[in-house]
Amino acid sequence: MSDERSGFRSSDERAGFEITPEFERFNQKYDVFRRSWWDERVKSDKSALFYRTYREALESWRKADGFTQKDYALRNAAWHVSDIFTELKESEDRREGFTDAFTLQREVASERTEFESPEVAAREMKRVAKAFGASLVGITELDERWMYTSKFSDISLTEKPNDIPAGLDWVVVTAQQMDYDWIRTVPSALSGAATGLGYSHDALVVLSTAQYIRNLGYNAIASMNDSSLAVPYAIKAGLGEYSRLGLLITKEFGPRVRLGKIFTDLPLATDAPIRFGVKEFCDICRRCSDACPVKAISAGEPTTEVHNESNLRGVRKWSIDGERCFDYWVKQNSDCAICLRVCPYNKDFSRWWARAGRVLAGTPLRRLMLWLDKRLGFGERWKPREWWTRTG
Ligand code: SF4
Ligand code: SF4
Repeated sequence: MSDERSGFRSSDERAGFEITPEFERFNQKYDVFRRSWWDERVKSDKSALFYRTYREALESWRKADGFTQKDYALRNAAWHVSDIFTELKESEDRREGFTDAFTLQREVASERTEFESPEVAAREMKRVAKAFGASLVGITELDERWMYTSKFSDISLTEKPNDIPAGLDWVVVTAQQMDYDWIRTVPSALSGAATGLGYSHDALVVLSTAQYIRNLGYNAIASMNDSSLAVPYAIKAGLGEYSRLGLLITKEFGPRVRLGKIFTDLPLATDAPIRFGVKEFCDICRRCSDACPVKAISAGEPTTEVHNESNLRGVRKWSIDGERCFDYWVKQNSDCAICLRVCPYNKDFSRWWARAGRVLAGTPLRRLMLWLDKRLGFGERWKPREWWTRTG
């Protein structure tokens, strides 16, 4: 059941969404990264230089540990595959995967493979996406509220219609884990390799999975940061919970994931949202907001107040001040993820004690878990040079 006036849907409660009557769909033009190309409040010579350091021959680095030529070289190499896909259609005013959905696909097969049921089809899609390298896969229905009202081109600086065709009513959501050790070295250019490699893997997973569906005779469009918000879809698809730091927290990798989507008309059984105590833990934890060097993360309660036009309106939640966050990235000349590094959910969950801590975090003993986490030194920075010099 839904209340069209307020935008509320009955499934929102299970997902933890609190949508108010002031809800407005998001226009990609106001994403802080898009604003860094046209809005004088965000755009600067330094922001242009920031982007160039990722994509042009390296010219400047520092002696500081984590910001040497080798650190930048590795970061940019990790981004390389994703960048190639993104740049392939720039002459057509498309940056696929970031401002535009992928069109780098072969035609849809003329004959369709029929599936016994949506459940069977969903099971198969998850198996295939994981075989292509997805760390996590969930499925949900298309929800217009999370689709961008318009896209925005960083090249022509114009708004463009969102070109996901009608009728693609199912969304396969993928998550790629980011490297734990690299994230432990934040702030560093080296840690940016975790983000870059996450995107490069993501591009492979969504393109290949979409092509598989197309080869079966169904339409499928691969997507990364383009076309829609990703976190609400990931929550609805059961991949994790929303958190104070504004990102998805998964059970398997904490906040250390990059998200991808495949929009398709292949009927698929959908997943349900999961809860494992993140909201309750964030209520008592301030590790990310305390650690953020520019205080871009709220230390208060979830609210409908916004910092600026880069925030989604009409949803009660923790919101990040994207302007402050991006300004810090530009100043340090590499992306930051201090909030991810210090989060008690940022663990290597292949370790039994990390899994035990996660269970504890979901119980009334969560304050004990938080105290232990700090006491044992989790979240402290690992020296980047140790990553380069360790053996084995
Ligand atoms: S990425 Fe860095 S600057 Fe941005 S919110 Fe996280 S800690 Fe703050
Ligand atoms: S650091 Fe603490 S408050 Fe911030 S997202 Fe992680 S668990 Fe939540």
